[in-house]
Amino acid sequence: MIKISNKECCCGCSACAQKCPKKCIKMEMDDEGFLYPVVDESICVNCNLCIKVCPIINKRKNRNSLLECYIIQNLNDNERFNSASGGFFSPLAAYIIEQEGVVFGASFNSDMKLVHSYTEEKEEINKYCGSKYIQSDINKTYEEVLSFIKSGRKVVFSGSPCQVEGLYSFLGNNDITNLITIDFICHGVPSPGLFEKYKEFMEKEFGSNLIRYTSRNKRLGYSTKDSFWAYCEFENESRIFADKEHPYVNFMNKAFFAEISSRPSCYKCSFKGKNHKSDFTIYDCWDVDKLHKEMDDNKGTTVLIVNTIKAQEIFEKISRFYKVQQVSFKSLMKFDTASMFYSMIPSPKRGEFFADVKNMSISQLYDKYLDYEPAKPKFFKKAIKKVLQLTGLLVLARKVKYTWRRS
Ligand SMILES: Cc1cc2nc3c(=O)[nH]c(=O)nc-3n(C[C@H](O)[C@H](O)[C@H](O)COP(=O)(O)OP(=O)(O)OC[C@H]3O[C@@H](n4cnc5c(N)ncnc54)[C@H](O)[C@@H]3O)c2cc1C
Ligand code: SF4
Ligand code: SF4
Ligand code: SF4
Repeated sequence: MIKISNKECCCGCSACAQKCPKKCIKMEMDDEGFLYPVVDESICVNCNLCIKVCPIINKRKNRNSLLECYIIQNLNDNERFNSASGGFFSPLAAYIIEQEGVVFGASFNSDMKLVHSYTEEKEEINKYCGSKYIQSDINKTYEEVLSFIKSGRKVVFSGSPCQVEGLYSFLGNNDITNLITIDFICHGVPSPGLFEKYKEFMEKEFGSNLIRYTSRNKRLGYSTKDSFWAYCEFENESRIFADKEHPYVNFMNKAFFAEISSRPSCYKCSFKGKNHKSDFTIYDCWDVDKLHKEMDDNKGTTVLIVNTIKAQEIFEKISRFYKVQQVSFKSLMKFDTASMFYSMIPSPKRGEFFADVKNMSISQLYDKYLDYEPAKPKFFKKAIKKVLQLTGLLVLARKVKYTWRRS
């Protein structure tokens, strides 16, 4: 049976819990607020299906992806504004629902917990849009996907690379012709337990229940400097954007980028590399000005990598909903794609931080660990990066840097 002795080796996909024929695996929150499988040994029959389904224990075989690359912008301004980048998800979801299909993604439930769920209604697609920098609870969605595809329905499933690989592993040899998957280039996922603590803190500060949270928004524009500001909405109609006056609103984002709050498996991620198992892979196109200057309108652009022939056929059917430019994989590699290939390096203070989470408030944690201005890149450093970019040596330089930092 599955036993988690090293937390870096469990991404929390819950494939084991959903596969167990005895339903004796529960996903339980640990001290850091992440879900891990716990087996009720009194019911377990030692069939080891949980081990056979685990996408980390059973390393994927390398596969050759199609790798057609595009940069895209959703032509519907509202949909694009509500999305993290160029708004890839909504038109594909709507297209599948029009064909009596079902759409799965991550959204907040009525208790403001980030969970995976599905919808068959176009009106509900919006709740899945936008990046939430928290790990979502995958729930029973793999079992639901299986039941839908078995009944002949088309399904779109969107999630992190490990959630998508967990799904494929769970589905095994089932016919997946009707399944379309989307994943993203993944930096990591912060603790849902930490978000619960943040939610309680914010509700106390604003005297009302939190009813909406976005990790990022385009109020100030679309750039790494302007987009990573959280937004909260409360039952009493208070609304608050993170800013200098309300720095704690941005607690989750700051902790995320300080590499202090992500899941241990994210710092040793088994799902890196260019050949994703999903049909589509999406990520932020921060360098649209250098790739296609005429598309740089500061409203968000997505890099879309089409990994399979099935995905290419679907993209041809929905491409009229986007402004599209095809680009080469090589041209994308000139820009920052570190999280495509390398796990982030955890902060040396991560352990101390989570020990303090038990006893300190969000504001105390913020003041102790996160109240700093990020250092501005020095002129010399910027110039070296530019030269490496122009000479095509940036990818190699990054490889050397990450290998060296990890050793
Ligand atoms: C946790 C996380 C880390 C990321 N790291 C990077 C990175 O390092 N570099 C980079 O370029 N891009 C990263 N991205 C992707 C980026 O933020 C955008 O999602 C991407 O650019 C696509 O934008 P879009 O507007 O086309 O997507 P949208 O149309 O807004 O669709 C977003 C999709 O992501 C799904 N989703 C949102 N949050 C989660 C979640 N927590 N777990 C699982 N699924 C979720 C939604 O269900 C939806 O289908 C990350 C996204 C997430 C959620
Ligand atoms: S060995 Fe079989 S019964 Fe036991 S926990 Fe794993 S899947 Fe369940
Ligand atoms: S990675 Fe997924 S399948 Fe493997 S032990 Fe963790 S939750 Fe279970
Ligand atoms: S970084 Fe890797 S382990 Fe972490 S959520 Fe992303 S894909 Fe999963």
